Amino acid sequence: MSLPSYCPKCASPLTTVHDGGRDRPACSAEDCRFVHFGDFSIGCAGVVTREVDGELQALLVQRAQDPFAGAWQIPGGYAEHDELVSTAVEREVHEESGIVATVSDVVAFRHALAGNMGGPSTNIYMIFRLDYQSGDTQADGVEIAKAGFFTMAQMSDMKGVQGLSRWGIEQTLNSQRGTGLSVDRTDNRSEVPGWQLFGLTS
Ligand SMILES: [Zn+2]
Repeated sequence: MSLPSYCPKCASPLTTVHDGGRDRPACSAEDCRFVHFGDFSIGCAGVVTREVDGELQALLVQRAQDPFAGAWQIPGGYAEHDELVSTAVEREVHEESGIVATVSDVVAFRHALAGNMGGPSTNIYMIFRLDYQSGDTQADGVEIAKAGFFTMAQMSDMKGVQGLSRWGIEQTLNSQRGTGLSVDRTDNRSEVPGWQLFGLTS
């Protein structure tokens, strides 16, 4: 991780403070309390299933761009810093596949330190189960080359299906809807804007 030299909030030179058991870059300006704790990000991806002729199919998209151009994965991306992750995953699914789907529960997540699978930042990647609502698969042709619903048998014959996506789909198909960490929709808890609880309701 490369450390910043200047404060991203007020552009003053950074100095070092001892905070939380280690030395960290911190702003030298009296009225600015910025401390650099590291680079973190939140990724999200959605498993959307549909039953066709008695068989369950899951939504996959094929990457059009590097890294991993040509690979198939469940649709997803990064949550913006001012966006709830459940909103982000619904947005990414729609942008990448044309499918409208709504979050049910979290089926798994991955924690990867910077420099590993998380990329340049330390990353939490959450895999959601989503309920299909409407739409037909449509790729944007820029980031995504193709989008479609496939059975597990079909995926076995496809090249470049990402391992984590396949595990997420298997976990979703092998568990009942709502047995993961469900989004809390209890009125007096969920009415606070800008935050969201998972797993407090059964
Ligand atoms: Zn500052």
